[in-house]
Amino acid sequence: MTNPAPREWHCFACGLRLGIAHGRQWHLRYKTAQFFVSGPVVAICHRCSTRNESPALPASDEASEAAA
Ligand SMILES: [Zn+2]
Repeated sequence: MTNPAPREWHCFACGLRLGIAHGRQWHLRYKTAQFFVSGPVVAICHRCSTRNESPALPASDEASEAAA
């Protein structure tokens, strides 16, 4: 089983981690709620309220069997 390093998305203002890339989706977590989203997403930082647009997701290498 491969273990690719996940890409993380951090608030550009305060550095709080907003999400982790899993293949072609962002895994967003806040308290007990978790979300998997694909495509561009906007998150409001829950620490400093800065609006953050997600960086481009990496072209998926490892999740390609579920893609298409
Ligand atoms: Zn922030």
